[in-house]
Amino acid sequence: MGMRAVVTGAGGFIGHHLVSYLKGLGYWVRGVDVKSPEYEASEADEFLLLDLCDAANALSASEDVSEVYHLAADMGGIGYITASHAAITRNNTLIDLNMLDAAVERGVDRFFYSSSACVYASHHQEKADVTALKETDAWPADPEPGYGLEKLYTEELCKYYRSDHGLETRVARFHNVYGPLGAYDGGKEKAPAAICRKVAAAPDGGAIEIWGDGKQTRSFMYIDDCTEGVYRLMRSSHCEPINLGTEELVTVDELVDIVSGIAGRSLTKVHDTTKPQGVRGRNSDNTILRQVLGWEPSTTLQDGLAITYNWIAERVGAKVSV
Ligand code: NAD
Repeated sequence: MGMRAVVTGAGGFIGHHLVSYLKGLGYWVRGVDVKSPEYEASEADEFLLLDLCDAANALSASEDVSEVYHLAADMGGIGYITASHAAITRNNTLIDLNMLDAAVERGVDRFFYSSSACVYASHHQEKADVTALKETDAWPADPEPGYGLEKLYTEELCKYYRSDHGLETRVARFHNVYGPLGAYDGGKEKAPAAICRKVAAAPDGGAIEIWGDGKQTRSFMYIDDCTEGVYRLMRSSHCEPINLGTEELVTVDELVDIVSGIAGRSLTKVHDTTKPQGVRGRNSDNTILRQVLGWEPSTTLQDGLAITYNWIAERVGAKVSV
């Protein structure tokens, strides 16, 4: 069998890009999701609309492939993951268990699991002026309720399935991925896309609403770095969870300033502190990533956001920057 892979969540943002990346490398790819990609057709050789909460569907998804890239998850921006603990935890538990069982039953060579920086213990994230998170900071556990707790549990399941069933698992903790072809409205969009949309819609000299006081900090990874990092990790022998993100820490206000600069607008920020804003500060420590892969994400926020802003601005009918 040549290189054959399934990408779950292929109708979503990262999964869709990963399908294109693997196709570019010459893979035969099956995409699986409950929905088709929203903004352009998938390049997958086969695209199956399947609900992975059903174990039989997970088994069909994993037929005749050597690699599983498991990205399907019930998720969204901070508003959504704060308001939907039961649904997210239930759905993602079922999806993840079903995919791990199916991978064992199908005897696949490698299984990738997309975890999240939301697994990290909250007491490491109480100050905007953060110490970057090392992989060991996930334990003792005190993750983001619901979504983060389930990710941490499935990280452990990957370890158990490796030791008890011999399944070769690889686990990356993504830190805030952004780029074109991601959700930018409707409630499931994340901060960079929401900010691009708001800036694109605002007239020069106007105002935009920011969730929180704008001082909360994060790092953001451009989508092309994410897909390359996933692939590099799959080729490596590192089976412990690893950070996949950048170390370029910014406040949300700074993020708004970068996007406003790209758009060529001067805007007043109106902070709404009644809205959810997640942890106070979070950054990725890439020490292990550099050691293991000899590589790390390198797209600057300025460059990645320029591409992302122009894509969103075009979609909402605003003027793109030059
Ligand atoms: P996304 O919401 O765009 O994609 C997830 C896809 O999973 C969606 O298309 C959705 O329809 C699909 N899905 C949900 N329930 C399903 C089900 N029952 N059966 C089949 N498919 C189902 O999200 P994304 O940003 O592309 O994230 C991909 C993965 O990366 C997820 O596991 C997510 O938790 C993880 N992650 C993403 C980020 C980020 O910043 N985007 C950060 C950390 C972790």
